Amino acid sequence: MASALRNIIVVGGSYVGKTTAQELAQVVPNTHRVLLIEPHSHFHHLFTFPRFAIVPGQEHKAFIPYTGLFPSTTSPVRHAVVQARALSVQSQHVKLDREWQGSRQIPFDYLVVATGTRLVQPAGMRHDDKLSSVAYLQNHQNDVKKAKSILIAGGGAVGVQMATDLKEFYPDKEITVVQSRPQLMSGFHEGLHDLVKERFDELGIKFVTGARVKIPAEGYPTQGGPFNVELTNGTQLSTEFVICATGQTPNNGLISELTPSTSESLINPDNGFIRIRPTMQFLDPKYSNLFAVGDIADTGLRKAARPGSAQAAVVAKNIQAMIEGKNPEDVFPRMPAAIHLTLGMKYNVIFRNPNVAEGQTEPTIMKKLDGQEDMNVEAFWQRLGVSIESSNQYHL
Ligand SMILES: Cc1cc2nc3c(=O)[nH]c(=O)nc-3n(C[C@H](O)[C@H](O)[C@H](O)COP(=O)(O)OP(=O)(O)OC[C@H]3O[C@@H](n4cnc5c(N)ncnc54)[C@H](O)[C@@H]3O)c2cc1C
Repeated sequence: MASALRNIIVVGGSYVGKTTAQELAQVVPNTHRVLLIEPHSHFHHLFTFPRFAIVPGQEHKAFIPYTGLFPSTTSPVRHAVVQARALSVQSQHVKLDREWQGSRQIPFDYLVVATGTRLVQPAGMRHDDKLSSVAYLQNHQNDVKKAKSILIAGGGAVGVQMATDLKEFYPDKEITVVQSRPQLMSGFHEGLHDLVKERFDELGIKFVTGARVKIPAEGYPTQGGPFNVELTNGTQLSTEFVICATGQTPNNGLISELTPSTSESLINPDNGFIRIRPTMQFLDPKYSNLFAVGDIADTGLRKAARPGSAQAAVVAKNIQAMIEGKNPEDVFPRMPAAIHLTLGMKYNVIFRNPNVAEGQTEPTIMKKLDGQEDMNVEAFWQRLGVSIESSNQYHL
């Protein structure tokens, strides 16, 4: 059934897409509605996946219903979360992998791509439904429990958080991290490498830098018992379980059918991210009604949810201006790379690279000991509009 309302579509309902949809719902006139397209049945709170893939009993809290996304003040009846995958974005409509309100195509006035990146399990889930993802995390916890030694491929945030959680939760297991770059937590000021190294030494976590794991096409055994892992520097390491904590692949396929107006591609060929203007509109002038936001946008910033939230507000303001017949003038802020990293169950650190534009030369480091086993997920459920009165609600 066609609606008389004009559609503003956000594709991708993770941290940045959901904030964009919420910001838009606050400002669009009642002639318009916001549709958030996302194949997951629940919001994936992926900051918790590394922890919940190790520590049992919390995994169901990582998947939050979308039911509270549009609070009553913003007309929840008008706006909607559409559970579907966007197959292709055209200049005026989007094609879905299933029907929604009787059609596989939804027309739009404005569309925001917030499809981020794909992460290898356990950092990202393969399934769209909650029960299968919960079962996956429980299986992973069992595999980890059985193994006497564990090798983690990747010394970025996922690898570092998993290594420190593992060694604290299972002090007798031998944990090794293999990092391809010379520095752990590459992309950050070297002070973060030093801090993580100090923590690894304190806990007894081994690490190798400057070498990659040669992952066999058939993957690694998960049945238990030792096997050898080959590194690109020629060494072999024996382990009983391998966790892959490497790389991110941009989800850019949905714009492949759009023709650019010049020979320049819509996507930066060097990294796969969508080229944008400072207003977050597509760089290509032919597609001024299309925006990209969050990890999929080629902002040049480090990929993180926090700068993505600021971008979401910029997109909402610019779309509001365009609906009102004005020029979109808000531009996304540039900020130095920052991270809130757990280094064990309680120990966590907020680390911010020096703001060179403001003349800083040293990073900002805030060490804390207030970590909770469930990573304070309740506060996040609340931010998604679901308040917890009984722990049974976490199974919704
Ligand atoms: C373990 C871990 C901890 C982190 N901790 C922090 C932190 O403390 N602070 C911080 O700021 N950042 C943190 N980050 C980084 C942060 O998670 C990412 O920057 C953030 O997830 C980016 O959000 P996004 O919405 O742009 O994209 P993503 O989170 O990548 O989400 C993209 C969404 O789009 C959907 N999608 C993809 N393709 C389609 C399609 N065709 N149709 C419809 N939907 C589609 C996906 O299902 C997904 O839900 C962390 C990352 C990890 C892995």
